[in-house]
Amino acid sequence: MGTAIPTLLGRHPDGLALTNAKGEQRAFVDPKRLGGRFVLEDLWVMQGSLCDLKCTHCYTASSPSNNRLEQIAFTELRPHLDTAARFGVQKICFTGGEVFVNEAVLRGRAKRNEEFVRSLEYALEIAPVEILTNGRRYIRHHFDVLRQLRERHGDRLRVRITLESPRAAEHDGIRGKGTFAQTVETIKQLMEMGFVPVLTAERPFLSEQTDEEIRAHFQGLFRGPVEVNLIENVLEMGNQLVQLGQRGQEPKPEVFVTTNCFSSLNRAPESLMCHFSRCVQKSEGVLRYYPCPVIYDDARFELGTTLEESFRRVHIAHKNCYDYCLKGKGATCRTRPL
Ligand code: SF4
Ligand code: SF4
Repeated sequence: MGTAIPTLLGRHPDGLALTNAKGEQRAFVDPKRLGGRFVLEDLWVMQGSLCDLKCTHCYTASSPSNNRLEQIAFTELRPHLDTAARFGVQKICFTGGEVFVNEAVLRGRAKRNEEFVRSLEYALEIAPVEILTNGRRYIRHHFDVLRQLRERHGDRLRVRITLESPRAAEHDGIRGKGTFAQTVETIKQLMEMGFVPVLTAERPFLSEQTDEEIRAHFQGLFRGPVEVNLIENVLEMGNQLVQLGQRGQEPKPEVFVTTNCFSSLNRAPESLMCHFSRCVQKSEGVLRYYPCPVIYDDARFELGTTLEESFRRVHIAHKNCYDYCLKGKGATCRTRPL
């Protein structure tokens, strides 16, 4: 474990240029190590790209018909959770798509996503868990199990729900008619169970000017306490790629970020998710590791099929690296309360 960190280059089918025409070096981030041993703080589990909604800006272009990222069954995930435990994982986050649906749930053949429930129960024995959900209706089929898990684990289980705006029309304009009312109702029901829901919003969609206004407007929707988490940048990659594909154009999701960019953008490599996180995803029947949940389904950015393999240098090369993590104030998928 104390050996030199392998670079992504050797695994890059198309090859990544590590210097540009001016001779500047491409920026990179090394995985976190303590005492010569790799350390994982956050494990992200991408539970597929299937979703009951079809939001206009969804960066994975998730929808009721997008099966490109596949659901991960419990038996497939279990050994990866065990490995994450060995590397000291501190938080496990489930995201998608919508984690509470799979094909059977979405088509009305099953009430609950049992594979997800088993993974969730197991993950909670390892580390605190955060579930990212649209909070619309399918989570409600799982209230019994969420209530039981809350009783057993308390605040070790958190539920993160996106509200695009504190105003129904603005939220529904992005997520679909009626979704604001459904989601707000779900949040209230979760609060009755004792959860303090984490409400997530994206700053570019909000008309509020200050953090205080944002917090106050979201909190004003509810009687009990909520945590408000703000994402600084919006990703539209998925839909951009779909639109390009429809026009017959090839996507070009690469950027050249130089080592100097870290200082000029005032960002430390250690602050980026690729330093302390990994994301496991499944496509074409294989579980694959990515540096973070922001990059998916692109073989050029894969880090291998095991967590151990994934502890390698990550070159900052994806369009999302700049659009999401580096631009402006910089965004992160980690909860950062207002
Ligand atoms: S943004 Fe979330 S809720 Fe909307 S389509 Fe994408 S995964 Fe589903
Ligand atoms: S998107 Fe962000 S966290 Fe992911 S590899 Fe790029 S810089 Fe790192």
